[in-house]
Amino acid sequence: MASATHALSTASVDAPFEHTTIERRELGERDVSIDVKYCGICHSDIHQAKNEWGNSIYPMVPGHEIAGVVTAVGNAVEKLSVGDRVGVGCLVDSCEECEYCEAGEEQFCTKGAVLTYNGRDYDGEPTYGGYSQRIVVKDRFVVKVPDSIELEYAAPLLCAGITTYVPLKHWHVGDGTRVAVIGMGGLGHVGVQLAAAMGAEVTVLSQTLSKKEDGLRFGAKHYYATSERATFKELQSSFDMILNTVSANLDVDSYLRLLRVDGTLVNVGAPSAPDKFHAFSLIGARRSLAGSSIGGLPDTQEMLDFCAEHGVKPAIELIGADDVGDAYERVLRSDVRYRFVIDAATIA
Ligand code: NAP
Ligand code: ZN
Repeated sequence: MASATHALSTASVDAPFEHTTIERRELGERDVSIDVKYCGICHSDIHQAKNEWGNSIYPMVPGHEIAGVVTAVGNAVEKLSVGDRVGVGCLVDSCEECEYCEAGEEQFCTKGAVLTYNGRDYDGEPTYGGYSQRIVVKDRFVVKVPDSIELEYAAPLLCAGITTYVPLKHWHVGDGTRVAVIGMGGLGHVGVQLAAAMGAEVTVLSQTLSKKEDGLRFGAKHYYATSERATFKELQSSFDMILNTVSANLDVDSYLRLLRVDGTLVNVGAPSAPDKFHAFSLIGARRSLAGSSIGGLPDTQEMLDFCAEHGVKPAIELIGADDVGDAYERVLRSDVRYRFVIDAATIA
């Protein structure tokens, strides 16, 4: 039987979050029922709660950085059992048959992967995310949290971690690669740690120097303020890869010029308005402008294991259900250090 769980939901673009109950489906044979313990607040939650990408479904229960404990499994579930500490990220279903699903890149499923919230299940029902106390997810989309990572720290890795891990891996970041990370928020502060753990020489490009000490502690070698014009002069042709985690539009040309020959600017930040750039910024040094979207399930498990091995740990601020509105405001002011995580016990 389907059953109810407590959740936080928003009814429209400008409505505040309210306590409510939602239905979770009856456990299917491949389903895992999870008691949500913690859920991170990603800037994508804000974009979607405020319909900035123009595709919002209301009422909305956001949340795709979910960490919790398994409370029941369907008959056909083999890899997970009751009591396991687990995570769920941005995806909860995909066709499992197309070339991308077969390759473990479910985010590119040709049928369209089902998003954890603000999506629709293949039966047409809207999906509700992790700002809730319980969720039912198909086994393939549930990963194991390594013993050494506490659940509240695991939560942000399920989106911020995988979204930064995949491009660093895909563009072969390793010993000595010169990587710059633009924006030191939720994604950025994890990206800095991951790139440093992979052996890169990491530079943070932040609006100001106010978080410099933290950036260096996260593993960056250099830290520059993008509000200073001199930064762009000094850093011309410096980086093999730039990871742009900023939620707003930037002057793309200025950043492209910071790339060395064959360097790549990878966008993971997802502003709602289009960017502009000049072809000559690419042509002159055979540079690439690229993008990357979350990651598949094998990479998600690999990322968690990598974080456990290398001590990559998000910096979090634990909040209660009633603080979500304030937390959104603080994220929008770049006043997040560095990920808000909701204690799901407070959602009752
Ligand atoms: P966040 O915590 O708000 O971090 C973004 C950072 O960007 C801020 O902390 C700030 O860092 C910088 N920033 C903000 N506004 C800026 C502006 N106007 N100009 C220059 N820098 C600015 O957000 P997040 O959760 O990390 O998410 C970042 C973006 O990635 C969002 O657009 C989100 O939707 C997107 N995202 C994409 C994927 C994907 O699969 N591609 C997955 C998750 C999230 P400083 O203070 O250091 O400048
Ligand atoms: Zn996210």
